[in-house]
Amino acid sequence: MFERILIANRGEIACRVIDTCRRLGVQTVAVHSDVDAGARHVAMADMAVNLGGAAPRDSYLRGEAIIAAARATGAEAIHPGYGFLSENPDFVEAVAAAGLVFIGPSAAAIRAMGLKDAAKALMAEAGVPVVPGYQGADQDPARLAAEAEAIGYPVLIKAVAGGGGKGMRRVEGPEGFAGALEAARAEARGAFGNDHVLLEKYVATPRHIELQVFGDGARAVHLFERDCSLQRRHQKVIEEAPAPGMTPEMRAAMGAAAVRAAEAIGYAGAGTVEFIVDASDGLRPDRFWFMEMNTRLQVEHPVTEAVTGVDLVAWQLRVASGEPLPARQEDLSLRGHAFEARLYAEDVPKGFLPATGRLTHLAFPADARIETGVRAGDEISPWYDPMIAKLVVHGPTRQSALRKLDRVLAGCEVAGSVTNLAFLRALARHGGFFAGEVDTGLIDREVETLSPAPVPCSRARALAALGAAGLHEGGPDGAGFTLWAPLVQAQGLRFGEAEIEARIETRGAGSFRVGIGEATHEITRRGGAWWVDGAPTPARIVVHAAGVSVFWGNNYHFTAPDPLHRAGAAGPGAGHVEAPMPGLVKAVFVAPGDTVAQGARLAILEAMKMEHTLTAGRDGVVSEVLVAEGAQVSAGAPLILLAPDETPNERTDESPEEAAE
Ligand code: ADP
Ligand code: ADP
Ligand code: MG
Repeated sequence: MFERILIANRGEIACRVIDTCRRLGVQTVAVHSDVDAGARHVAMADMAVNLGGAAPRDSYLRGEAIIAAARATGAEAIHPGYGFLSENPDFVEAVAAAGLVFIGPSAAAIRAMGLKDAAKALMAEAGVPVVPGYQGADQDPARLAAEAEAIGYPVLIKAVAGGGGKGMRRVEGPEGFAGALEAARAEARGAFGNDHVLLEKYVATPRHIELQVFGDGARAVHLFERDCSLQRRHQKVIEEAPAPGMTPEMRAAMGAAAVRAAEAIGYAGAGTVEFIVDASDGLRPDRFWFMEMNTRLQVEHPVTEAVTGVDLVAWQLRVASGEPLPARQEDLSLRGHAFEARLYAEDVPKGFLPATGRLTHLAFPADARIETGVRAGDEISPWYDPMIAKLVVHGPTRQSALRKLDRVLAGCEVAGSVTNLAFLRALARHGGFFAGEVDTGLIDREVETLSPAPVPCSRARALAALGAAGLHEGGPDGAGFTLWAPLVQAQGLRFGEAEIEARIETRGAGSFRVGIGEATHEITRRGGAWWVDGAPTPARIVVHAAGVSVFWGNNYHFTAPDPLHRAGAAGPGAGHVEAPMPGLVKAVFVAPGDTVAQGARLAILEAMKMEHTLTAGRDGVVSEVLVAEGAQVSAGAPLILLAPDETPNERTDESPEEAAE
């Protein structure tokens, strides 16, 4: 076994590799970009080397710098993770030329599978069923259109160099072919610098079922299948193992084909053979076809680990350090069922727009395997993949594991960025998915019902108001609840664009009556839980740097009310400035006698851990300053008074429009 390895990656996969290294007593060297200097993977590793700028080409894609870092730190081998340089055969050769070990397949094996057209031809030769289609060198549009006709619509145009669902277009009929071809080629040119395409029959009721394989360069075994049919834009969202409805015959046929594929290219290490399955008539051994092979550790490998008990990274290290294949096929078996959900910083209602932000609060439930590269306070930056974590659950049956996934999703707390948590939860509760009726079109068909952002009920809003008022803290069962709280106070806050006005009546330690619009809720803190209207809830109130969050099945994030909104309510000519919410006066910029213009800064109030600038509602002269810096004030407290307006009152009782009539 190696003494020390370098991990040429970042984020959750770098952390995941380090986890296994620690268990095996292997020292680790992290590499990072400038913006990742404080990242979790750097903190976890024994040593770290800065590679340069944030853009991947200035850091994580700098093969020569990575090899130099390995040599300088005495690392014997390089683990590439996934993405970045993991499937770059030139890098693999450079690693070997430097006298280091690449933890993965040979450059030749990667090249053999690197382009989809050549890979399909090779697989067909090895007796692996491939998707019917055209993968010829002639790329003339007229020839391609004729081939599409011969295959029969619908067809799928695929970039031969494609990956991550890019450069792919489904075409329904001949009229759409030329346009789709142009679009696929342009996307492929931009993403891969190669605009060659192949054509495939678009499989009906398609399911994506892939086989985990593992080789030692001569022999290979498979570690059963993963079903990755829950996809959006050809990208995986939730994966599971085993595949729902899998039969022993189908598994044997697919496993044998996958092993044949791996052995045909002398595969060493962990790899995945992806198949497309026509599930229009259930799973049938004559209806699966090779799509591509991913010559690396896959994002979703933990579901296989959960059902086989194998640590695939440990196997990678063992085989790369010269040990034989750790198991024979007959030693491997399946146990229970596992799911993985990919938690992303993305705005689902806005068309799954990738999001960024500092994770002001982050907590995960204990009863799941959480693979993450970030901690509370870390930033999801625009430079890299916006994945926050992978949530992996295991249970004795599919239904128990799926229920567990639902519970785990309900228990995730992420603030500071929008996430796809609610979308994942809606999927986990989807009836068809629960019944195992999956195909790659499920999400597209149901996207309208899966996407809406959940809206907090008045009970959740009432809890948020307590947090905004600073009444959520204190010792167990209210002992430390703020006794100085006013008996009745108004509390404003916002949910998205909506302004919320709450009326909080403190009735005793940890006991409140909160009015939200027409509704009134009795809220008490008992036994460490929030009781609402006489019933205990699992709700949690967390105040953090970006506002107040209520975690109650869903994540509801509230922010401080817009001070301008309140100023507006007080009227533009208001002669005083009041505290829009309870808080601490951080600064006062004016003294009696000062002349101020409308919009001038008068004071700063710190509330909900954010600073709010209070400004003058009109031009005037300060007559009184009622607070000093450091004062704690309640909502609605007058802070600064302006002298009565001296200018003659120009307003009439008529609005200008009325006057014009
Ligand atoms: P997988 O097939 O392993 O589930 P996907 O198909 O979802 O992976 O992703 C497509 C490709 O994009 C994979 O090679 C994945 O490793 C790569 N990728 C994901 N995140 C990043 C990243 N931050 N930088 C570069 N490549 C990435
Ligand atoms: P990538 O390299 O981008 O992962 P793949 O060839 O693996 O490309 O295809 C990505 C996804 O597109 C598959 O998981 C599947 O959902 C869909 N797909 C690919 N080929 C077909 C096909 N012939 N018929 C139907 N769906 C397909
Ligand atoms: Mg693929």
